[in-house]
Amino acid sequence: MPTTHLVHPQQAASLRLKDFTPRGRKFHDNRAEAEAEFRELRREFIDWQERLYAEDKQSLLLVFQAIDTGGKDGVIRNILQGVNPQGVRVESFKVPTKHELARDYLWRIHKVTPASGMIGIFNRSHYEDVLVVRVDELVPEAVWRRRYEHINNFERLLHDEGTRILKFFLHISHAQQRKRLQSRLDDPTKHWKFDEGDLEKRQDWDDYMVAFEEMLQRTSTDHAPWYVIPGNQKWYRNLAVMRVIIDTIREMNPQYPEVTADLSQIKIK
Ligand code: ATP
Repeated sequence: MPTTHLVHPQQAASLRLKDFTPRGRKFHDNRAEAEAEFRELRREFIDWQERLYAEDKQSLLLVFQAIDTGGKDGVIRNILQGVNPQGVRVESFKVPTKHELARDYLWRIHKVTPASGMIGIFNRSHYEDVLVVRVDELVPEAVWRRRYEHINNFERLLHDEGTRILKFFLHISHAQQRKRLQSRLDDPTKHWKFDEGDLEKRQDWDDYMVAFEEMLQRTSTDHAPWYVIPGNQKWYRNLAVMRVIIDTIREMNPQYPEVTADLSQIKIK
């Protein structure tokens, strides 16, 4: 049973998205066990987050990309439950404002990358600039095509300066998207999430898959790898993402700073 869905940087160029199943059940068939492992790892994550914050030297950036209804909001909500909100910052990137469009496309991104000690979570990201921008033909091909290189260099800079980057593509099937859109229609408490624009985007499904595929081929690097996460079963998706985070943060191994003063002599009056 594989525990990783890493897009190996050395093999990324020949990646085919159709070779990746969106079905978590292919990897894990026991939901209760998966949920128990997830909760256990989340407890560990809560502890590591505190150490990362106290150490104040490194930072972690988690990037989430997916087609609409792919589960970005859900996975973020699940992994962050119980984590000290002071140490994490979730950034959602919407259609750029006029102010943002007047600058280079990485400007709004760089401004909100995590400071030392912090965990940054991107709900959508600079990858929209090679996804929606490509599919909707918002700029000419020559313009979005050179962005893969910009992005790799930008992420290299962040990495070199102390930010570990993990990128998750939440992979769901076309049929699963239909179910999720339908459930938004059926449940009045989800009506606010229903956007007719999502139906238009659904018609562009194939174009999006081509854009996602090329994104994965060109931007999975040693310093900022992509993981293709099977997204149809939410419980598996959550676990798969958490396993990657935990493996990485164990490797980062943040430590509480050593206190040199002799605290035993201090008397609080
Ligand atoms: P979620 O991200 O949780 O699905 P949403 O889709 O409800 O939220 P919206 O208010 O629709 O959120 O904003 C996200 C929209 O912004 C998406 O349609 C996305 O394609 C678009 N967007 C994000 N970045 C860019 C960009 N650089 N250029 C053009 N459109 C962008």
